[in-house]
Amino acid sequence: MKKHLFHLPEGIVYLDGNSLGPLPRAAVSEIEQTTVGEWGELLIRGWNAAGWFQQPAVLGNRIGALIGAAENSVVVGDTLSIKVYQALAAGLNMRPDRRVILSDSGNFPTDLYMAEGLIKTMGRDLELRVVAPDAVADHLDDSVAVMMLTHVNYRTGQMHDIEALTKRAHAVGAVAQWDLAHTAGAMPVDLTALGAEFAVGCTYKYLNAGPGAPAFIYVRPDIAADVDPALSGWLGHVEPFAFDPAYRPAAAVQRMRVGTPPVLQMAALSAALDIWDGVSMQDIRAASVELSELFIHEVEARCPMLTLASPRDPARRGSQVSFSFSDGYAAMQALIARGVIGDFREPDIMRFGFAPLYIDRDDVMKAVGIMAAVMNDRLWDRPEYMARKAVT
Ligand SMILES: *Cc1c(COP(=O)(O)O)cnc(C)c1O
Repeated sequence: MKKHLFHLPEGIVYLDGNSLGPLPRAAVSEIEQTTVGEWGELLIRGWNAAGWFQQPAVLGNRIGALIGAAENSVVVGDTLSIKVYQALAAGLNMRPDRRVILSDSGNFPTDLYMAEGLIKTMGRDLELRVVAPDAVADHLDDSVAVMMLTHVNYRTGQMHDIEALTKRAHAVGAVAQWDLAHTAGAMPVDLTALGAEFAVGCTYKYLNAGPGAPAFIYVRPDIAADVDPALSGWLGHVEPFAFDPAYRPAAAVQRMRVGTPPVLQMAALSAALDIWDGVSMQDIRAASVELSELFIHEVEARCPMLTLASPRDPARRGSQVSFSFSDGYAAMQALIARGVIGDFREPDIMRFGFAPLYIDRDDVMKAVGIMAAVMNDRLWDRPEYMARKAVT
């Protein structure tokens, strides 16, 4: 739909935008302007004159528009791991008489790790209860303080029923926290209608803001003024430049800011968000389902050794398709060497993301053609494709 707005290397079919979105062409000049024109020329004056200080809120509102959040309920900054921690700490403080954080084994490890680390610092008898993805609803009871889930499973693409689980969590008095890392920019979500207390996500996946781009956090407006920030940094203070020795939280979601925001990376995010102006998330979702269905159909017809690891029903699947294959790592390396970029997740998952902003049916057919050759002729079976790199 918007392929011309991205820099995509010649000869590459990029099916890994679910991990790192491609470079928006306009980000190059935006970063240059922010670097040379603002940092270079304005120096410290950039915080006021170029609006750097307000930018986390401005960008938060633009992301909010893509996820159905009200004005001033989303702010950007830090990394997603940090935002998971902040939301969870706040949620736990809302339920001081409960001890369980309920999550699932399909959650992204850092979300679980952050919960483990947070438990150690809370000084309360808390338990992280990790159950199978399909068993979450059965484990929601009145011991649960926070239900902490990721909407779309990073490995299989399996999607939770976000409405039903949020309702069920609220019915037992639990706080609902959703990680939208694989949702924002991939499909519609209406946080206002959903009513979840917290949502978090990153901007370098489907939102295309580049490696190291800041994360976002949403706090439901009616509770924001009572949230007690665990990471009480100076830029979340009501008056940072009063340099008050005592912390007093800023209004609403602004209290979830911590320290100095990444100004250069926010320039990339700003350019990346321009692409979404006028794009309907319903259309994106419909196109992504169509591309994913085509991909599954063609791969199953032409690569019988691959087993679908994602739900077959598109309504239960996010914007990625995973296949399992015992030599999946080597097979993915062989694909990448031939210009089809997906990625590999342990133990045997070959993962392909479909971002309709820059992927079309021709890309899918081209990718499957190369896959069929690599798989049927065992082109992956070479020592150079077996050696593991640091990032898979
Ligand atoms: C990508 C992803 C992360 C990454 O966290 P960072 O702090 O940005 O590295 C965390 N959680 C989920 C669910 C993810 O998909």
